Amino acid sequence: MAQVPFNVGYRRALRLRCPLCGNGRMFSGLIRMNERCSCCDFKFEREPGYFLGSTYINYGWTSVSLTIGYIVLHVVLGYPNSYVMFPLVAWFMLFPMFFHRYARALWLAFDCFFDHSELQDMSKYSEENSEQTVPVSDTSG
Ligand SMILES: [Zn+2]
Repeated sequence: MAQVPFNVGYRRALRLRCPLCGNGRMFSGLIRMNERCSCCDFKFEREPGYFLGSTYINYGWTSVSLTIGYIVLHVVLGYPNSYVMFPLVAWFMLFPMFFHRYARALWLAFDCFFDHSELQDMSKYSEENSEQTVPVSDTSG
């Protein structure tokens, strides 16, 4: 049975690599996502709307970082709200755009860890040798 350990999938997601093999790039540009992994042929978007869940990750990280930023700037450093508002609004607008790719990669890594039942059908590893597991050694980092 194919399975990607959580720590391996998490590291691969932070490098924007395929969660299954760790070699193929998930994105070919700033926004454009590859349909399949160039190394193992793993299909990234399992079904239409699959990456809707990544918006929760993106929203969560944005909210937590915004809250921490407000606490540090206003409570710890003592800046008034009128000074703190502009940088935090800018952060709220820009951070989700920056984090978009990472949120998708993390979502896919989480899904590969929690629901690995369909992984065998989606990779050429399973077609080539159905008895072996997907290699999970992360030699590239
Ligand atoms: Zn791959």
